[in-house]
Amino acid sequence: MTATSITSEVDFTVTGKQAAFLRLPHSVHRSAYGWIPVPITCINNGPGPTLLIMAGNHGDEYEGQIAVSNLARSLDVADIRGRLILLPMVNTPAAEAGLRISPIDSGNLNRSFPGSATGTPTEMIAHYIEEVLMPLADYSVDLHSGGSSLFYPPTLLRGQGHSTEETKALLDLQAAFDLPYAWVFTGGGGRSSSARTAMGAANRKGAINVMAELGGSGVVTPEILQSTERGLRRILNSLGMLPDYQPDARRGTQELNVQGSVYAYSAGIFESTKSIGDNVEVGETVGLIHHPETPKAEPEKVSSPYAGIVLCSRAMARVERGDAVFQIASDAEAEADKA
Ligand SMILES: [Zn+2]
Repeated sequence: MTATSITSEVDFTVTGKQAAFLRLPHSVHRSAYGWIPVPITCINNGPGPTLLIMAGNHGDEYEGQIAVSNLARSLDVADIRGRLILLPMVNTPAAEAGLRISPIDSGNLNRSFPGSATGTPTEMIAHYIEEVLMPLADYSVDLHSGGSSLFYPPTLLRGQGHSTEETKALLDLQAAFDLPYAWVFTGGGGRSSSARTAMGAANRKGAINVMAELGGSGVVTPEILQSTERGLRRILNSLGMLPDYQPDARRGTQELNVQGSVYAYSAGIFESTKSIGDNVEVGETVGLIHHPETPKAEPEKVSSPYAGIVLCSRAMARVERGDAVFQIASDAEAEADKA
């Protein structure tokens, strides 16, 4: 096994259910020999695939943290076939602080892969996931949301696959998760991926993987939490890992290709004039930036450089130049028809 600075209290080879911690070494003034406890649950019931589910990669994205914790508490060994590894708040310092990035090293975990065994705490977590956990995993799911600054409707993110088998497996995961939207990446991925994300780590280690954006705005809504929990159980069932679960009927998923983000070019208060799911034309006004500090100043129009539908929108009204206010996506089937 590749050298790592993190010690696992869980033995992944043992049959049974273990709920404990990864010990992330952190020697500080108040705790010379201390470690940061990264919660982990492993439910291993013999033959079958290994599925890794993570949440709290960004600490202010909460739906996944709750759903993964609920799964870890509610599933027993007898429910499971194969091995399920659950990490509900994987960048623990960020999640405890309710922040996107870690307050102890300013690390953005999803920009830190492949990480370093001797780096900052965030880099050590990235390295452990990439070098220890991903090689164990046949499948992985990384749960995100729009965080504090953005809001997404429940959206699966996946690559296109680099083989017939991988593409089929990704489509099966998408169908099982059964979220309203799927954002399909049109390039990259695979073993040679250079992405600094958990998806990149999974691709480099050959784990079939999807990500999801599940709400955001720094809140948890009952509808999105319910669809997250439903989706995770449906995925477990589709992989043969939760055989007694009875999935309900599919609701269907619209596949999208993201065109890009619309950005603010001045500081002020952003007034959105479009909602998630609305159609947008190139050059169309999608919002106004107000300057109440300057009497008589007219608000500036923000226009979209893209045509498509609004996939995600900004959750904070105050903006600065460079802040994304919308993400615009086009229907993947319509794009394919044009090609
Ligand atoms: Zn995220």
